[in-house]
Amino acid sequence: MTTTVLAAAAPTAAPAAAPTLAPAPALAPSAAEQLRSAELEQLIHRQPGRFRVLTGDRPTGRLHLGHYFGTLQNRVRLQDLGVESFVVIADYQVLTDRDVADRLAEHVEGLLLDYLAIGIDPSRSTVFTHSAIPALNQLLLPFLSLVSVAELGRNPTVKDEIAHSKQAAVSGLMYTYPAHQAADILFCKANLVPAGLDQAPHLELTRTIARRFNDRFSSGPGATPVFPEPDILFSTAPLLLGTDGGKMSKSRGNSIALAATAEETARLIKGATTDAERRISYDPEHRPGVSSLVLLAALCLEADPHQVAEEIGNGGASALKRLVTEAVNERLAPIRARRAEYAEDRASLRRILREGNERATAVAETTLREVREAMGAVYY
Ligand code: ATP
Ligand code: MG
Repeated sequence: MTTTVLAAAAPTAAPAAAPTLAPAPALAPSAAEQLRSAELEQLIHRQPGRFRVLTGDRPTGRLHLGHYFGTLQNRVRLQDLGVESFVVIADYQVLTDRDVADRLAEHVEGLLLDYLAIGIDPSRSTVFTHSAIPALNQLLLPFLSLVSVAELGRNPTVKDEIAHSKQAAVSGLMYTYPAHQAADILFCKANLVPAGLDQAPHLELTRTIARRFNDRFSSGPGATPVFPEPDILFSTAPLLLGTDGGKMSKSRGNSIALAATAEETARLIKGATTDAERRISYDPEHRPGVSSLVLLAALCLEADPHQVAEEIGNGGASALKRLVTEAVNERLAPIRARRAEYAEDRASLRRILREGNERATAVAETTLREVREAMGAVYY
């Protein structure tokens, strides 16, 4: 990764339900994390066959531009480089921050349409829903034994999500879903997770769980480690902000969906938070709202954000918003057209998911067998 073009996230306040104060989420990957992503890029280009990718999304709404620039583009790029890929539609995890998973089937289908529209190819990437893979979910039990309650409680992404949750009480699933995510990643022994910045603490936990499992259950003489310690791969936009200046999120009413119409996109961008200064600049730390829009235009146009800001100059927020709207709509037009075509054939969507679930089940059963053998829990 050469340049990191980031907009800063606004700190969030904790509600009464949060047991401890929510810290401001990290604003950017650390220097070490950026260096590691750059190293990984080189390794992937040299030997794509050494890698296996797991990524995924919660079916809580339509995928948005934060997904696109934070992880989706990387997923397709890696798939096209020949890296074997798994994509989980994380349906059980919808319930981390709400009582009922509303319109679940519709959101699952919507995610699948978004994947196909951006270029996920089901013959090369296995798309599955984790509620359909019992063997994957069973990994959660030994994994939970490998982490302490204190470790689960201090995860900054979980704290941020609690701060934004509308639930009166925090569920156990909220604290344990990062361990569940370790099962999502490790069931297929993925060693690479192209994801946004909010996933960094979860990846750290997955690495801890993999290491502790290997140490505890498969470290004797001649034993080979059961699990890899996966790396996170950041894009150049690992934290895109939404129209309210906070992390763009499906569930926070601040996102621009890939599937939005051109008019809806224009309306959302028109309502985005900016500031009173007329001259447009790219300064994520001091002008997060304006800089986030500049960044969005730059990403869509594949240009440098400073240059984009320079070109708008004294045009003010309205010129900036016009440019962003045009750039986003132009960039998304072919994706939106493909999505509409795929939506015509719902039987194919169901088949893709069924076949993905079958492939993922076979992989999960093999891994679970290995886990049970390592734990001495195979009796016949
Ligand atoms: P929700 O509000 O329901 O949690 P979300 O928008 O946060 O939805 P997720 O399904 O939780 O989306 O995240 C899916 C993937 O997209 C993760 O890899 C996450 O890091 C990435 N991602 C989500 N939002 C952003 C963003 N604003 N910028 C960059 N990457 C993002
Ligand atoms: Mg999220």
